[in-house]
Amino acid sequence: MSIPVIDAHAASYRARQMPATAEVARGVWAIPVPLSGSALRYVVVFLIDTDDGAVLIDAGYDHPACWRSFTRSVTAVGHRVETISTVFLTHNHPDHVGFAGRIRTLSGARVVIGNADDFATMHRVRGGFLTQLRTALALTGAPPEVVDSMYADAMAVATHHEDLRIDETVADDTEFRFGDVTIRAVPAPGHTYGHTVYFDTRGLVFTGDTMMPEGPAQLAIVSRPDDDPAADLFRTLARIRDLGATIACPAHQFPYREVAARADELTAYHRDEVAVVRELAGAGAGTTAWDVARRMRWRRPWDELGRGTQRFSLVHAHALLRHATGVGR
Ligand SMILES: [Zn+2]
Ligand SMILES: [Zn+2]
Repeated sequence: MSIPVIDAHAASYRARQMPATAEVARGVWAIPVPLSGSALRYVVVFLIDTDDGAVLIDAGYDHPACWRSFTRSVTAVGHRVETISTVFLTHNHPDHVGFAGRIRTLSGARVVIGNADDFATMHRVRGGFLTQLRTALALTGAPPEVVDSMYADAMAVATHHEDLRIDETVADDTEFRFGDVTIRAVPAPGHTYGHTVYFDTRGLVFTGDTMMPEGPAQLAIVSRPDDDPAADLFRTLARIRDLGATIACPAHQFPYREVAARADELTAYHRDEVAVVRELAGAGAGTTAWDVARRMRWRRPWDELGRGTQRFSLVHAHALLRHATGVGR
């Protein structure tokens, strides 16, 4: 269904390798950087060439190998880190905000993120990343020893600069002009509460972790009584579908065409998931996310999933249960 923009990029993804840097559209570069030790293998930083300097979408992971690879690629496409003018962050996960602060120091770039994902807002409303996770895991009904081991596991991999300074936050559609290039920030919660996609009005949408060409979306951590990231995601998919973009540039996997069809496909997929969870939950009162997660169909049987994948799956099932029944609080 998802048609790759760059065949070699998609082929590398399918061969479980990191794709080479490539031009997605005139003056728009996909720059994969390595995520060593992660099943995702790489994250893609996009660089847009404008009359007002280079504009970045996302900023990789804070690791020396990742930074080295990034700076080499920026040079290879004829730019310098020092001339980056703006860094747009799709959301506040460690593999996306990684070296934003470092770029600002070197270039004076302004750093932009969705309001709910700004650390200052997030800490005030929801607490830190690990605090949210701890609260959420406790709400899933998983046994304490499972919660403890999942939490320990998350702590070990969550290198996260929760002190990153943000220059500008967006809460509504906001247009940014760079000479002839216009980038519209469009709030797109679901994967996180402040997730934002960036629409280059020439027809490209940078979708962060919201709409990969393959596989489902990962729903946000449910830690507050009114959280319903599945409802957020359905609205977000409808918004992205209606932007009229011809190319989607996700932060993982590969850029692809037929954006609206992919939005519809994902909507149908997650609606089915909600229906399945509703049925599983209907089987008995007091069904928890932990009960549901172990009975859902994942890529592999639950017991064969790695601990990290189990944690993501449990968080996802918790969000589905919240949407399906309003419980799991
Ligand atoms: Zn993410
Ligand atoms: Zn990601």
